[in-house]
Amino acid sequence: MSSNLADSSQPTRPAIAWIGLGIMGSPMSENLLKAGYSVTGFTLEQDKLDRLAKAGGSAAGSIAEAVKDADVIITMVPASPQVEAIAYGPEGILENAKQGALIVDMSSITPQTSVDLAKNAKEKGIRVIDAPVSGGEAGAIEAVLSIMVGGEQADFDEALPILEALGKTIVLCGPHGSGQTVKAANQLIVAVNIQACAEAVVFLEKSGVDLQAALDVLNGGLAGSTVLTRKKDNFLNRDFKPGFRIDLHHKDMGIVTDAARNVGAALPVGAVVAQLVASLRAQGDGGLDHSALLRAVERLSGAQV
Ligand code: NAD
Repeated sequence: MSSNLADSSQPTRPAIAWIGLGIMGSPMSENLLKAGYSVTGFTLEQDKLDRLAKAGGSAAGSIAEAVKDADVIITMVPASPQVEAIAYGPEGILENAKQGALIVDMSSITPQTSVDLAKNAKEKGIRVIDAPVSGGEAGAIEAVLSIMVGGEQADFDEALPILEALGKTIVLCGPHGSGQTVKAANQLIVAVNIQACAEAVVFLEKSGVDLQAALDVLNGGLAGSTVLTRKKDNFLNRDFKPGFRIDLHHKDMGIVTDAARNVGAALPVGAVVAQLVASLRAQGDGGLDHSALLRAVERLSGAQV
């Protein structure tokens, strides 16, 4: 009863459509429901639609049905091909959304896909911002994500109250695609950091040091990081349940190495880590969490995987 009262006391809240209810999209959309927004969702898995309905949202039968009455359409799908699949074509968002609707694409995709989407949407009277996130599944659940935005200032301002229900650090980085460029840099830093942690873990274990004690003290000094805080237990327990899948990080290393080459930036260490991520995937570990970079270092070191 109290949530109905809260809804009726805030009639001006935008109606939200959410496309893509995966590891990130499910908890994020639930945070919007908790904040009092109405959310109509669509995704490919029935169990995720059931989860949304159970949390108080509405499950739609198609993208068209989800977006037709929405003021703001949030998308959170794996990569550029999926963003293009949900945006374009007769069943897609651009053909079925209201004029004046705002698309907030939170997927991590190539900057060029975001630029093209904004341009194509504008021709239909629909606005877009790119708003990829960092902080992982835990950050999504706890609503403490970092959100890096590209697009127009007015659209950022309009989306900000919604984004504040999902994250803590929310920054407009520049024009369309800028959020994706910053996210690509984020993925470079995270992958290199995980790789360094994984190498340290194998080195410490082979040296016979108490790993738990070592990681605790390391995390209190300059070597400490959010990566180490969030992934320490994955390393200690060899628990590689995702989280953030190697398949997705492989996609992101492709985005960052390609974007860097386009602007003439050299990423020597990033290129090596991109190869290690690709190798993990080729060995069948693509569905594991990215902390499974530890398995690659173990294989290289002749340690038990
Ligand atoms: P996921 O694979 O768990 O979820 C993706 C969802 O998209 C699925 O539920 C799927 O049904 C839906 N989808 C795909 N194609 C669709 C279509 N045509 N129509 C409707 N729904 C469709 O992925 P995730 O881990 O939630 O990641 C989503 C995005 O967020 C990715 O771009 C990823 O790189 C980024 N990201 C993930 C994390 C993380 O820790 N998992 C962290 C930051 C950013």
